[in-house]
Amino acid sequence: RPRTKDEVMAKVKELGVRFIRLQLTDILGITKNVDIPVSQLGKALDGQIMFDGSSIEGFVRIEESDMLLRPDPSTFVVYPWLESGATATARLICDVYNPDGTPFEGDPRNCLRRQVEAAKAMGFTFNVGPEPEFYLFERDAEGKPTTRPTDKASYFDLAPLDQGEETRRDIVVALEKMGFEIEASHHEVGPGQHEIDFKYADAITTADNIATFRFVVRTIAIQHGLHASFMPKPVYGIPGNGMHLHMSLFRGNENAFYDPSTPNQLSDVAMHFLAGLLHHAPAVTAICNPLVNSYKRLVPGYEAPVHIAWSEQNRSPLVRIPARRGLSTRLEFRSPDPSCNPYLALAVTLAAGLDGIRKQMEPPAPVHRNIYRMTDEERRELGIRPLPGSLGQALDALREDEVIQEALGPHIYAHFLEAKEVEWEIYRSQVHQWELDQYLGVF
Ligand code: GLN
Ligand code: MG
Ligand code: MG
Ligand code: MG
Repeated sequence: RPRTKDEVMAKVKELGVRFIRLQLTDILGITKNVDIPVSQLGKALDGQIMFDGSSIEGFVRIEESDMLLRPDPSTFVVYPWLESGATATARLICDVYNPDGTPFEGDPRNCLRRQVEAAKAMGFTFNVGPEPEFYLFERDAEGKPTTRPTDKASYFDLAPLDQGEETRRDIVVALEKMGFEIEASHHEVGPGQHEIDFKYADAITTADNIATFRFVVRTIAIQHGLHASFMPKPVYGIPGNGMHLHMSLFRGNENAFYDPSTPNQLSDVAMHFLAGLLHHAPAVTAICNPLVNSYKRLVPGYEAPVHIAWSEQNRSPLVRIPARRGLSTRLEFRSPDPSCNPYLALAVTLAAGLDGIRKQMEPPAPVHRNIYRMTDEERRELGIRPLPGSLGQALDALREDEVIQEALGPHIYAHFLEAKEVEWEIYRSQVHQWELDQYLGVF
C-alpha cells in the first residue's frame, strides 16, 4: 500500500490506471464517489479537489458549500472488475476539509478519527473485526430487486452450486484482490443469506473496509443479475442481517483486554469497557441500528439481541465474550446491523467503552440463561433492560446521552437527529398493509 503522493503516482503509472474514484461517506452512511481522470490526480493528492458539500446529505448549507477532499494514500486500491485497459480504475478514500484547511467536523471519518485519537491518548488502539450478513435476491424481468432469495439453503449448507454460491465466491475473489484477508465465508441461516468475515484491523481501516465491502458485494451481485441487500430485516419471518463487531483494545502489541491473573482472564480494562458499552447501549443503538427497519430485526427468535446483558456462554445477549483468550481476547457486540454508518458506529462504541474506562464502571453480573425465555418479572429482578424497541425510542435515548452526543460532535448529532426524526415521523404516520389486512374488514 502506498503511503505518499509520490508512491501513489508511481503505482498509477506501473498499473496503467486511467481513472480515480475519490470516495467518501455521508452522515447517513451512504458511500459517495467522484470520478477523476488520472491527469487530475496530482491536484487531488494535494487536497485541491473541491466539491459541493451542500449536495451531500447533512454536510453543509448552500451558502458555505465549497469543501475539499483530501485522499488518504494508504487507501489506494484498483477495482478488480476495472483492472486494465482504457477504463482501468482505482479508488482513494478521502477525508473532508473546510476551505480554510481545517478538518470538517461533519465528516464521519473525521468523527471516528477524533475517538481514535482519544483512545491513543489513553495508550490504546481500537481493533475491530466485523461479521456482515446480507441476502442475495433475484431481480424481476425489469431488473428491479425482489425479495425472492436465490436458494432455500441454511446455515453452513453446501448447497448445490447455485447462483448464490457462485456470486459469493466471486465476491470473495474480488475482495482478496483488493487486499482483504477473508477469514470465513458461509451460507447463513436465512434462505439466500450469506456472511463474509474479514480480519480485524484498527477502527478506521475497518470502517473503510465495511464501506468498501458493501459496495463490492453489491457490484458483484449486479454482475450476476442479482440484488445484494444489507437491509436489516428484508423479509418478515426469516432472520435479519446483523453485523456483529468483535472489539478489543491493544496497548502496543499486547491485547489490553487479556489478563491471565483474573478468574475469567479478562482485564479491568475489558470489564470497564464492557460496562461503558452496556451503559450507553440505548443511545449507541440509534447509530448502530439507524433505520425504522432495524428494529424489525431486534426481536426474539432470530439470534438478534433484544436485551442489554452480557454472557460468556450464550448468544442471546447484547455482548458475548468468545472463549478465545490471549491476543484474541475480545467482546462481540451483536446488535449492529450492516445498514449503519460504519465510521459513526465505531466512533460511538469506542466512546462508550472509553467512558466506562475513564469512570471505572463495573458491568452487571453476566447472564448465562436464555434471556428470551425469561419472564418480564425475572428480567426486572436481574436488572436487565430492553434495547430500544423502535427508531423513535432509540432517538429518545440518544437525546438523553451526552457522552454519545459529544462523540458525534454537534454538527453530526444535529443533522443525524433531524434526518432520523423526519424518517421516524413519516413512517409512524403511514398506514401499512398489515393494518389494512387486520382492521379494514373488521372495524
Ligand atoms: N442473523 C443474526 C442477526 O440478526 C445473526 C446470526 C448469527 O450470526 N449467529 O444478528
Ligand atoms: Mg459469524
Ligand atoms: Mg452470522
Ligand atoms: Mg458472530
